[in-house]
Amino acid sequence: MINSNYEANGVAAPHLNGNPSRYAEASTDELGDQHIATSYETPLRPDAFEMPDEEKMVKIEKHFREIMDILGLDLRDDSLQGTPKRVAKMFVREAFSGLNPLNKPSISLFENKFQYRQMLVEKNIQVQSFCEHHFLPIQGHAHIAYIANGKVIGLSKLNRIVEYYARRPQVQERLTVQIAKELRKVLGTEDVAVYIDARHMCVEMRGVQHPNCSTVTTEYSGKFLNENTRAEFLQAIR
Ligand SMILES: [Zn+2]
Repeated sequence: MINSNYEANGVAAPHLNGNPSRYAEASTDELGDQHIATSYETPLRPDAFEMPDEEKMVKIEKHFREIMDILGLDLRDDSLQGTPKRVAKMFVREAFSGLNPLNKPSISLFENKFQYRQMLVEKNIQVQSFCEHHFLPIQGHAHIAYIANGKVIGLSKLNRIVEYYARRPQVQERLTVQIAKELRKVLGTEDVAVYIDARHMCVEMRGVQHPNCSTVTTEYSGKFLNENTRAEFLQAIR
């Protein structure tokens, strides 16, 4: 049931031919530092949700305890004891809950009775995600716009869509495109803009260690390819 739904949920269908992708030859370090996304779909195995969440948490807890143990931490310490369980719960229930299509927000649209046909901008939507190369936080804001055709969406649903796709191991480019694709689908219009400005802890805390820089990614389609429409949107989110 879930397996046939890959495309619809922004999840990559598995590679069936077993051929390594052209990125396979680059070292993981190169890939990570260049933040290359191999696909706009999240790479997930077909059996990703056969294991129940409870079982996933038990396993992650066990393995995270081992990581801490290898690092030499004394897990009998009161302060550390509960950490593996907390991490496991956070991964499955919060940070990566957007991997599971069952957690996708249900979207209801309303008739556009007041005939609003101008631009609607929802700005400063919080983005809290994790970089899939380093499992470190990505934090920032998304600004979304669309031009209503016949239907309008509940405003909080825009936030929910951002949240759903953010709660995965991500690269910012893919997150931007996944949100835009979903909006085009649910709103039934090409006239969609997504702008994300976010800080990457993997850039700030490790590697180059440059704090306070942020990354901007955009996805424009339909009328937003028009310079004036785009300018109106950019003016609105300034
Ligand atoms: Zn990273």
